Amino acid sequence: MARITISKLERRYEETAALAGLDLSIEDGELVALLGPSGCGKTTTLNLLAGFARPDAGEIWFDDRLISSPRGVVPPERRNVGMVFQGYALWPHLTVEQNVAFGLELRRRGRPEIKREVDWALGLVNLRGLERRYPHELSGGQQQRVALARAIVVRPDTLLLDEPLSNLDANLREQMRFEIRRVHDETGITMVYVTHDQAEAMVIADRVVVMNVGRIEQIGTPREIYECPRSRFVAAFIGNANCLPGVLVEPGLVRCGELLLRTATPSVAAGTDVTVCVRPSALRLCEPAATVSENAVHGRVVQQAFLGDHQDVRVELAGGIQVRALAPSREDFEPGTEVRVQFSPGDCHIVVD
Ligand code: ATP
Repeated sequence: MARITISKLERRYEETAALAGLDLSIEDGELVALLGPSGCGKTTTLNLLAGFARPDAGEIWFDDRLISSPRGVVPPERRNVGMVFQGYALWPHLTVEQNVAFGLELRRRGRPEIKREVDWALGLVNLRGLERRYPHELSGGQQQRVALARAIVVRPDTLLLDEPLSNLDANLREQMRFEIRRVHDETGITMVYVTHDQAEAMVIADRVVVMNVGRIEQIGTPREIYECPRSRFVAAFIGNANCLPGVLVEPGLVRCGELLLRTATPSVAAGTDVTVCVRPSALRLCEPAATVSENAVHGRVVQQAFLGDHQDVRVELAGGIQVRALAPSREDFEPGTEVRVQFSPGDCHIVVD
């Protein structure tokens, strides 16, 4: 297994800075998710880790071995890195067993060892019994399991996964998240997992690296990045927080246009431009006449979407500010309904961008 150290990594494509100075340390045996919108540099990072590309600046170390820098790059086959892609890239003319055995045969391992290792890998991904099937005789989920078995059978130090579940339907994707996490826990392989799906990153990873335009916005456990976003981007990207620009009037009091909101106390000076971030699930919608003590403002429902166990309601507040609230599905919030929106001060987090 490998500890990975990425230092000041940069990669340009003509005018585009795909990576603009990335610093990241990944512990031996850790599972880290790179999460961010399309084009933020996730795949570029993975390609540099795999050895498919050379950085323009910076270094990558596997333990105490320098493997990438502008001066040179250790080729992919000498890094002991496994890869799993979105497209499974299985050999169509080879059976499951032969697909998984392929990497071991390239390494000229003996027959008994190949048999033993293929059996171990197929057991790990719950595919025993399907050894003689061809890829076209498997479901998408089963094909992705073969791709996973093929990557781990050579016992890589590091496994790189690039959106491996995006081709699967929603239910299967949820199930496979737990499977990948289990495979990680049983093998202890250091894993770097690229996704743009925040729920996937949060279920799978020990730590989530939130990226935006070639830079890291925040690194933390799923709970840390959800509960303590450090920037407006992270707050909005993780959990779709409502982000209201404002000015700090005094500690714990922010003016956002016509609204005056009590917030969690930040350590910034009065007069600072701030953003109040509050999650849709933290807003309460009440009757217009409800006597709510503090942080309650008048609003009018502009949109309502029924989502089964809850509903997504958009409300326009004074000054034209729109917020999203999650409300119980049994209550009715037809567009035009007058409501009071309650912001609990403890749920109003302040970020200074
Ligand atoms: P996605 O989620 O859409 O796969 P990503 O976060 O993986 O996106 P990258 O593929 O790393 O993003 O791309 C980062 C930036 O570099 C983007 O602006 C992209 O257009 C650019 N880029 C990536 N590869 C190339 C290339 N071969 N030539 C030119 N520009 C590239």
